Amino acid sequence: MERISHWVNNKVVKGTSGNTGKVFNPATGEQQAEVDLASVAEVDAVVAAAKTAFATWRSSNLSKRAEVMFRMRELVDANRKELANIVSLEHGKVPSDAAGELARGLENLEFACGIPALLKGGYSEQASGGVDVYSIRQPLGVVAGITPFNFPAMVPMWMFANAIMCGNTFVLKPSEKDPSASMFIADLLRQAGLPDGVFNVLHGDKVAVDRILNHPDIQAVSFVGSTPIAKYVYETGTKNGKRVQALGGAKNHMLVLPDADLDMAADAAVSAAYGSAGERCMAVSVVLAVDTVADALVDKIKTRVPNIKVGPGTDPSSEMGPLISREHRDKVAGYVSNATAEGATVVIDGTDKAKDQGFFLNPSLIDNVKPGMKCYDEEIFGPVLSVMRIKSYDEGLATINANQFGNGTAIFTRDGGVARQFQFDVQVGMVGINVPIPVPVSYYSFGGWKASLFGDQHMYGPEGVNFFTRGKVVTSRWPDPRTSSVDLGFPQNR
Ligand code: NAD
Repeated sequence: MERISHWVNNKVVKGTSGNTGKVFNPATGEQQAEVDLASVAEVDAVVAAAKTAFATWRSSNLSKRAEVMFRMRELVDANRKELANIVSLEHGKVPSDAAGELARGLENLEFACGIPALLKGGYSEQASGGVDVYSIRQPLGVVAGITPFNFPAMVPMWMFANAIMCGNTFVLKPSEKDPSASMFIADLLRQAGLPDGVFNVLHGDKVAVDRILNHPDIQAVSFVGSTPIAKYVYETGTKNGKRVQALGGAKNHMLVLPDADLDMAADAAVSAAYGSAGERCMAVSVVLAVDTVADALVDKIKTRVPNIKVGPGTDPSSEMGPLISREHRDKVAGYVSNATAEGATVVIDGTDKAKDQGFFLNPSLIDNVKPGMKCYDEEIFGPVLSVMRIKSYDEGLATINANQFGNGTAIFTRDGGVARQFQFDVQVGMVGINVPIPVPVSYYSFGGWKASLFGDQHMYGPEGVNFFTRGKVVTSRWPDPRTSSVDLGFPQNR
């Protein structure tokens, strides 16, 4: 059985805790590897390596860091196919979807190559007589990233590219369900010329996460995962004096107004709901359909769903793969099975597929969903699209704003004025106008509102640079004997 171990100082380091986790092939349901799970002592050793590396890395010049990141960008690009296959084999998403994940991850590496331009400070000459004031941004030290299973390559890239380019050293704790992509990335960083200890991978479960959250030498934690864990990570990390950004779960609504192009809306809803088997934090999980077009829209979605080819990533014709685990598949199937008893209408039931080998489900479509039903109130994170029928735009907006989550949303309409009002009023961090999955490009930042994000700074882009640096302001005067005198008053500028 393959064993996946930690990565420290640019080398694979075997775990010594005696604890391991099982890594499955979700398409067959069989275990394909075991992954070492770190003990507290192992976390401490990795953090110590990162701390040693920080002393040198923070002094490396910006061009040298950019050179490494440029090379890394080229290496990821050259190895896309292999990395996509690694992701597909452990996560289950089809390789073409994994390739999309890598393309978006690459954007983050490209952004990071230009970070020197964002680390420029301000300068005010003659703020007072002979006094100049300027600001600089400096790295924090050792920082950690804790990532979810659903984007095992892209989400780490959201974090480490900015963190490293800003001069920090990085400890990645990837999901123990699909840990191999992070090891492949680590080796590419080594090939790109990243010095020992700047990027490290620590596999683990709650033991490792808890040690990261209370380790005195870790300055900041960037987290992506489910809302309960995000809240826990934020509360525990900040209580221990760390800077934390913790992105959580989602329930993304797509509001379809009567003037929308219904074919375009149906295509978008099906693509955004069932892509990656719905295991995306930006997946559309609820369509809010205004009554007058709801029947027509549901019909259009219903005719599209059976065309989705569900199968393993090894079959090039597959469009949707399995879910991550047996437990998760059964949990998702439970929402569909309970929906009728809750008063909803199951239009397409994809749960029969659960009898197959592997962790598959077919796409499901549930109509007449309402707040108060479990299939609406909770994040399903599977290939299940709910439709809620509403009377008006106002009811749609109020529904979205009343939801506990605020990650992504989209409006489908031809009316620019209504779309603009929607972007103004909706309490969600990422908004699409006729765009179903509005993941911001890398030079903006990614993050939701409400229970979808704990913390102040969004992920990657300019806010990512802020998160991984802290400001310093220098007030400077060069000695001028002509202006020197003893003055006990508080320094003034006028
Ligand atoms: P998860 O919360 O189970 O795990 C995320 C990370 O936390 C993993 O590294 C895991 O090892 C660790 N973890 C799990 N349980 C823990 C515990 N009790 N104590 C400490 N650490 C723990 O999430 P997941 O199932 O891997 O990922 C899916 C979730 O992530 C979904 O809710 C999805 O919406 C969310 N997600 C959010 C975003 C976003 O940007 N907002 C992006 C991707 C995924």
